[in-house]
This record gives sequence, C-alpha cells and structure tokens, in this order.
Amino acid sequence: MKTKEIIKRAHKLTNPFRVTDGGKFRLKDFDPGEMLGYDESDKERAKELLEHGVQALAELQDKLYAYDKWAVLLIFQAMDAAGKDGAIKHVMSGVNPQGCQVYSFKSPSAEDLDHSYLWRCMKCLPNRGNIGIFNRSYYEETLVVRVHSEFLHKQKLPPELLGKDIWENRFRDIRGFERYLANNGILTVKFFLNVSKKEQKRRFLSRLELPEKNWKFSAADMAERGFWDDYQKAYEDTIRNTATKHTPWYIVPADNKWFSRIVVAAAVIETLADLDLEYPQVGPDKLKELAAAKRQLLKK
Ligand code: ATP
Ligand code: MG
Repeated sequence: MKTKEIIKRAHKLTNPFRVTDGGKFRLKDFDPGEMLGYDESDKERAKELLEHGVQALAELQDKLYAYDKWAVLLIFQAMDAAGKDGAIKHVMSGVNPQGCQVYSFKSPSAEDLDHSYLWRCMKCLPNRGNIGIFNRSYYEETLVVRVHSEFLHKQKLPPELLGKDIWENRFRDIRGFERYLANNGILTVKFFLNVSKKEQKRRFLSRLELPEKNWKFSAADMAERGFWDDYQKAYEDTIRNTATKHTPWYIVPADNKWFSRIVVAAAVIETLADLDLEYPQVGPDKLKELAAAKRQLLKK
C-alpha cells in the first residue's frame, strides 16, 4: 500500500476520536468498545493494516530525523491494563530507535518533589528530529494527584497556593506549556486509551489466572480501580481543559487491543504527515562536493 493511501485511511480512522475543542467534550460520548464497523473476524486484516502503518510511520520518521527541526511528543495516559505498553511497543516497532526516546513517569522521587512538577518532564523532552514518548506524564498532576489529595500535600507547595483554583491554574499552565512547545517546534499529541471498567476486570482476572501474566498484576492497580468514577471525572475535566486544535487528545477505544493500536498508529501517521516533511535538499556547494567524491571513488 502506498504511503499516500495509508495517510488517507489514517484520517478516516482518527477523525471520530480526535478532540480539538475540549469545551464540548463528554467522556460518555466515546464508547470504549467502538470499532468503526470492524469486528473480531477482521483481526488478520487489521494486523496487515498495522504492518503497513508501521512501515509508513518508519518512512515519515526517517524524514523527521533527516529534517532535524521538528520534534513530536506522544503522551499516553490511561487506567491500568488499558494497553499503554502494548500500544507503544507495537506502534513504534518499526521506527529507528535512534530517533525515538521513551520515558515512563512513576510516582515522583524526593528530588522530583523538590522541584515544580514540570521539571522532571522538561528534562525528557524529545530532541529535534525525534519522536518522544511519555508513558504517563505531567497529566498525572490533574489525574492521580487530583483523585488522591495526599500526593498534592507531598509536593511542598506553599499553603497559600493550594486554593480551590489550583486545578484551573494547572490546566492553564499545561495549555501554556504545550503552546510554548508548539512555538518551538515540538508538537504534542495526547492519547487517552479509553478502556471500560468491565474490560479492565477481564484483563485483571487474566493477570491473576495465567501464570505468564501474574507478574503484571499489582494490588495497587486493584486499589485504583476502586476510584474508577473519580478518575473518569478527572480525565473528563482534564481533556475538556487541555484539548486544543494544535494539541489534540485522541480518545482511543481500548476494549479491543488491535483496534486501539491501529488508531494510535493512524494518529501518529497523520501528525507526521501534516508536517509535509521532505528530505533536506543539498545546495550547489554540497552537490560539487558529492560529484568530486564520486569522481575520486571511481578513479581506483
Ligand atoms: P505498568 O503497570 O504497565 O507497568 P504504570 O504506568 O501503571 O505501568 P506503575 O509503576 O504501575 O506504572 O504505576 C506508576 C504509578 O505512578 C501510577 O499509579 C501513577 O498514577 C503514579 N504516578 C505517576 N506520576 C505521578 C505523580 N506526578 N504523582 C503521583 N503519582 C504519580
Ligand atoms: Mg500500573
């Protein structure tokens, strides 16, 4: 399949899930089981489509790297067992590791807490020409930190800054930060892998029942499941306040793993394709240099 055709298909796959105007966003309008007419029997076809997508993505990444001016930051947020790790692994499987940087953000360290919250993320922003991946991110600051206020109290903020406008301020700062990145050539694309509570239960059970999946189970994940509704509210408010035309959120239906991977791949493809990247043209001096080198090589 030609890259052009893949890009066209990518737009079709992502359109229903792209949120560029947070004001109108309602999480309940997005079905975690949506598959746009595909069904389980399409698994093989989907695999093939993902393979084509991964190939196209590798081509686009090569141009991004060669051009060396833009960078793309992909942010993955989700409830546990929604498939963040698998999506990252499969979608990025064809890209050149040299042009890709992945960071996972866990509970902040003592050193992190001694700084403002963007500090640890700033240090991990992608270099020009690279794709950066944040597996969780500064968005945890309006998600887990909002759901569990004890995290906020560990942040050593002056008490007068802990008023009820703290979340509004964080949203404004995050919008401002992402605008700053965009103004400096770093595009931010955000994914919420939208898994249903029912599917999460099924995946947790399979982690308990299958020995090869036991290692993935954590009691902490079970505890967080108890706060499901609080998280859903926090996600909705976060997306409402931070989805913009230039820094969209993709609400990826995540109850079916292969479908969610196709949507993520499509979104990355469309982001790179929108940059209209071409390999850098070399100037007349460089062309002379190349011709001279060729002559010299052909002499012997
Ligand atoms: P996996 O379970 O697939 O390995 P994960 O991203 O869930 O991946 P964990 O080590 O299980 O990784 O969990 C990391 C935890 O760190 C999450 O519960 C997350 O909410 C928490 N975390 C991340 N950032 C912050 C933050 N700024 N403040 C408090 N907790 C945070
Ligand atoms: Mg976890």
